[in-house]
Amino acid sequence: MSFACHAAASLILFASACVGADGRGGVQDAPATERARMVAEQIQARGVRDPRVLAAMKDVPRHRFVPASEEADAYRDHPLAIGYGQTISQPYIVALMTELVRPQAGDRALEVGTGSGYQAAILSRLVSHVYTIEIVEPLAREAERRLKTLDYTNVTVRVGDGYAGWPEAAPFDVIVVTAAPDHVPAPLIAQLRPGGRLVIPVGSMFEVQDLRLIEKDAAGQIRSRTVAPVAFVPLRRGR
Ligand code: SAH
Repeated sequence: MSFACHAAASLILFASACVGADGRGGVQDAPATERARMVAEQIQARGVRDPRVLAAMKDVPRHRFVPASEEADAYRDHPLAIGYGQTISQPYIVALMTELVRPQAGDRALEVGTGSGYQAAILSRLVSHVYTIEIVEPLAREAERRLKTLDYTNVTVRVGDGYAGWPEAAPFDVIVVTAAPDHVPAPLIAQLRPGGRLVIPVGSMFEVQDLRLIEKDAAGQIRSRTVAPVAFVPLRRGR
């Protein structure tokens, strides 16, 4: 039932993209219209409320973060392939994870799993600096180039295994992990500032993973809760 519903919504989105593309429909900025609809129907409707997160999701041009072949689907309610067997997450999941870590203007953020650079771009609108690590070198290079072209100047991209975090840039107020390990990496907990928030999918790729929110209080005590079942690509080890 929900599939039919999504399919119908997508047809409408696709139609509006075509009007914008031929420049004759009187639509000023079709992607912005699609983003406003994405935020209302997929994100606000599911309970994300943080006005700064909603504004960032309305602002960042998601269609510029997907391959040209996927552009017409950029604002649909599901993940998309970005090459190398990897995916850009469903818009709602990006918004949910971003809201969960309660990003503040002065925060330093770490992302593990740069992928397209989209989650990093969203975070960059909400914190002072984003450090993001990607294990697939061509994806990292492409995301770096894209973020620069789109003028997201407060993002630093590194190629490497994010399991180890980014010790030279630690501690972080916010850590967002967008690939799933089978346990929470100890270096990431260590690199969380007291008062910091870490969101991470945990589990194997053959089962439903748990999206967990982990918080370190001022005394360094760790609290963890499971927020939702999710499906992420696995966190690879190596390099
Ligand atoms: N956040 C991304 C989507 C992430 S998909 C976006 O907004 O587009 C998960 C990404 O994590 C993939 O690109 C994958 O190559 C990367 N990845 C997997 N294991 C990793 C690791 N150990 N360190 C860093 N990146 C990793």
